[in-house]
Amino acid sequence: MAEIVFILEPDAGRVTVESSQASAKIAKEISKDLGQGMGVNCARPIVEIEKSSSETDFQQSETNSPNESIYIYRIYHHSTVDGPGRRSVIQVAGCSILCAGCYIPETHLRANGRLVSTTEIISDIDEKSGEHDGVTILGGEPFDQPESLEILVKRLKAKGYHLVIYSGYTVENLLERESEIVNRILAKTDLLIDGAFVRGLSLNAGEYRGSSNQRLIYYPITRHKK
Ligand code: SF4
Repeated sequence: MAEIVFILEPDAGRVTVESSQASAKIAKEISKDLGQGMGVNCARPIVEIEKSSSETDFQQSETNSPNESIYIYRIYHHSTVDGPGRRSVIQVAGCSILCAGCYIPETHLRANGRLVSTTEIISDIDEKSGEHDGVTILGGEPFDQPESLEILVKRLKAKGYHLVIYSGYTVENLLERESEIVNRILAKTDLLIDGAFVRGLSLNAGEYRGSSNQRLIYYPITRHKK
């Protein structure tokens, strides 16, 4: 039976409906009552829509220091499905993992995104600081740009934002790199959601996850580093 989750936000007048198995007929019935849907990360409404007004348009970065910038596909706000609470989401561009059946292949190439300075990203996140409970970084694959990711993470944590990172790599894979940069990123991560997407395990995957093999790992460095 199809599992359908309704996330209500009475203060914002918004409802998020999540289901990986609802038929087009059910989705149509729901949209009759609630209106047309809006895409959130790999969650897509049945009917294609224009780009969300909560997304930010960025210019290509002209900074001289490449690590001060990161390839991002987009930033969107008010997500209730990419970690606890209501979140601003930085979606990076570029993914070396290429899971079979990935729902967001448009994020696989860096060329599909833009190199944006961390200063510009932080300023966009700060602008919405009263409207979110934290920031999520997902992809694409965030750990494919470790130097830039570290700078971004440091700056977000300096502002006190709760930080969720999604990675297609498991925490064990990341620690096996024996990279000080990766370890420092993990040390600042409040919640890591790890593991590749497996389409055959997408049924009832659990909150915030695309497939049930993925894990919610709070404070990953303290849990896993010996
Ligand atoms: S890691 Fe994420 S973006 Fe990359 S292929 Fe897998 S699901 Fe898609």
